[in-house]
Amino acid sequence: MSFFEELNSLIQDSPTRLVAVSKTKSVSEIMVLYNQGQRIFGENKVQELVEKYEELPKDIQWHLIGHLQSNKVKYIASFIQMIHSVDSLKLLFEINKEAKKSNRIIPILLQMHIASEETKFGLSLKELFEILEYYTAPNSELKNIEIQGLMGMATNTQDEQIIRTEFKELKNTFESVKKTILLSKENFNELSMGMSSDYKIAIQEGSTMIRIGSLLFGSRN
Ligand SMILES: *Cc1c(COP(=O)(O)O)cnc(C)c1O
Repeated sequence: MSFFEELNSLIQDSPTRLVAVSKTKSVSEIMVLYNQGQRIFGENKVQELVEKYEELPKDIQWHLIGHLQSNKVKYIASFIQMIHSVDSLKLLFEINKEAKKSNRIIPILLQMHIASEETKFGLSLKELFEILEYYTAPNSELKNIEIQGLMGMATNTQDEQIIRTEFKELKNTFESVKKTILLSKENFNELSMGMSSDYKIAIQEGSTMIRIGSLLFGSRN
């Protein structure tokens, strides 16, 4: 069995879905997984994403998983299926504006800072609550985005306990937001966590979307 098949049998009876992270990989490498049934692919650079979108079958669901600059939202707004990496109110308003132009409601995840490393992007709890306050305000302009969940990246460490604790914390934040501020938003259901090095822990801790690149496609240069 290939790793792709093993992974699919691991998650087939669970709420977890696979985002195949195809950054730096060619369209022909992507087609190998496409031909085995994979439809959700994740990219982290806008230009590369747009090029692949143009060349590849139109039933692929493209997810942006990497840091997004506001001035690039316009290139993906017409087709992107989900943006995992929203980490500012400014970006959220920009996505909303471009989604409106395309007459769409774009599903997004808010990226939380859960790792102990300084360098990783993501929101603090305080920033999360600020954004949710704008989103849930009765007169909110944010009508063309839908916040469907949270995303996070754990610390890059061999210490499983650290990773598990960070995923648990993200899950707790997700649950408490779902039960309170976003109680009326029935599509707030996604928890995007887990990559090649830590997806098993992420699944155990309640991930609904694992983002896997190197284990599927081989390591990147
Ligand atoms: C590259 C990337 C992944 C996949 O990483 P692998 O270790 O290759 O599985 C997942 N999430 C994000 C945000 C990434 O940039």
